[in-house]
Amino acid sequence: MRIGGLQKFSLIDYPGKVACIVFTQGCNFRCGYCHNPELVIPERFSPVIPENQVLEFLKTRQGYLQGVVVSGGEPTIQGDLIGFLDKIKQLGYLIKLDTNGSHPYRLKLLIQLKLVNYIAMDVKAPLEKYEKAIGLPLDVGKIKESIDLIIHSGIQHEFRTTAVKPFCSYGDLCQVHRMIHGARRYSLQKVRLDEKILDKSLLSQEQFSENEFNDLKQSFQKEELQQI
Ligand code: SF4
Repeated sequence: MRIGGLQKFSLIDYPGKVACIVFTQGCNFRCGYCHNPELVIPERFSPVIPENQVLEFLKTRQGYLQGVVVSGGEPTIQGDLIGFLDKIKQLGYLIKLDTNGSHPYRLKLLIQLKLVNYIAMDVKAPLEKYEKAIGLPLDVGKIKESIDLIIHSGIQHEFRTTAVKPFCSYGDLCQVHRMIHGARRYSLQKVRLDEKILDKSLLSQEQFSENEFNDLKQSFQKEELQQI
């Protein structure tokens, strides 16, 4: 496993659980607003944290931490993800996976093998604006496939969208909501733009004001409550 970071404690990243976060290195998307270039751009990678070091840490936290969030980067591009999650499971932890949904066949396998207890998937935009949102060509059918798979998986899940005005207008978000119909949770996140992001041109583009974002959030939260 290419592990680029370990956050040893979190009360907010795994809903209702005390958890730590393992950040995998590498991502197949290039979202302009991405705040983790050190986990996405190979030239900015820091030395890998050995998998054994993470597993040893987890052994020392048995009984204190309830869950492990495996985030990225994009965890599903790691060839040895299944083996790694299995080792975490054997230590008795619940696992939450954060994913961009680009590898539905791998997600399916993880669900079938009961290696994940919670999946959080980012839905970046309506399908026709996806490539603009992630900065690369993509078979967007895989995104829809992952969404449907997660909704019907029977396990805890949530979908999230970062509200970037050029590809998340009110109409765009309505389309996203139609795509995730039947989902248990949905959250809209405000975009944070600073010098760290991948595409600096976003800094000069108009974004939602605080009031506009709150209005959007309110209208979509109503829909979320109906879906839970
Ligand atoms: S925000 Fe986009 S580029 Fe950054 S880690 Fe997530 S999927 Fe990858």
